[in-house]
Amino acid sequence: IAGPCKVVLAGSVAKQLLVEVNAGLQTLDRPPRLHGFLANKDPAARMYADWTAKTCKENGFDFILREVDREVLEDEIRQANTDDAVDGMIVYYPVFDSRRDQTIQWTVSMYKDVEGLSPQLISNMYQNIRFLDPPANLRKSILPCTPLAVIKILEYLQIYNTFLDYGKRLFGRRITVINRSEVVGRPLAALLANDGAEVYSVDVTGVQHLSRGTGLKKQRHEVRDMEGWGLEQCLPISDVVISGVPGESYKVPTELIREGAVCINFSSEKNFNPDVKDKASIYVPAVGKVTIVVLMRNLLRIVQNKPQTNGK
Ligand code: NAD
Repeated sequence: IAGPCKVVLAGSVAKQLLVEVNAGLQTLDRPPRLHGFLANKDPAARMYADWTAKTCKENGFDFILREVDREVLEDEIRQANTDDAVDGMIVYYPVFDSRRDQTIQWTVSMYKDVEGLSPQLISNMYQNIRFLDPPANLRKSILPCTPLAVIKILEYLQIYNTFLDYGKRLFGRRITVINRSEVVGRPLAALLANDGAEVYSVDVTGVQHLSRGTGLKKQRHEVRDMEGWGLEQCLPISDVVISGVPGESYKVPTELIREGAVCINFSSEKNFNPDVKDKASIYVPAVGKVTIVVLMRNLLRIVQNKPQTNGK
């Protein structure tokens, strides 16, 4: 007999999100234009670029792939920063696979950065500053794609409680995030905690606790090292378990997962064993399809943020 666990595929979430994106698109007088900069020979980067192209075309976005030599990449980005015909940009990493890649990230104008990697956008995110233009608050800050994709999945699954006020909708939830990389795990943990959750952020070095404190009194989350803690402490008390560990061999120990927990995998490998379905109430095996729609949503938001489109 099949258990009560529901397996939710990213495609279903992506489909619902696309309805919202398409409605936004209808209000514009021309399709938003995204330039994708490919300056490496990495097959995974090319696959991601091809996939972006396909999804953009299918949904009425204008995507132009720019294959450039990596030594001229920064100049090309600077030019695109001032070119009105370019609404948004994405760079396929790694380019140099060194700290120089960060210099490239910093070159992209924050007003054209669909990936949400510009220093100001990252700083806004950690500080729980949601708008670019306080106190008018008409232009939303752009969030990084994969963390936001996970949030959109949690909204779809109604883990976000819409009865509560915006910004507090994860109040009362305990969430474990296994991965603390700068691109996904750490920003994701911060976003969830800023929305009111108690978050356990786990990496190879240990566990951190992120929270806005009793009654969400703090405006943004605070971080505390949890000495001596491991998955044995976090998983049995977590309503949601989100895992993104690279490599085939890593598996979240099913026996530690709480009965009825929601389990989400964003690693390209399967971090959960098949028996997770005997424990979880909901299992989401992958998120990639949502990430790409979030990329388009970010591009749309960038266009909507422009002064001429909001009547300013
Ligand atoms: P990364 O190597 O930068 O980070 C890996 C993280 O996992 C680190 O924080 C590390 O400490 C932690 N980790 C490793 N082994 C662990 C263990 N045994 N226990 C606990 N924590 C452990 O990788 P990344 O860039 O964050 O990517 C991670 C995975 O997510 C990859 O599989 C990548 O393909 C995937 N990813 C998916 C998307 C998407 O949209 N689906 C986007 C980005 C990355």
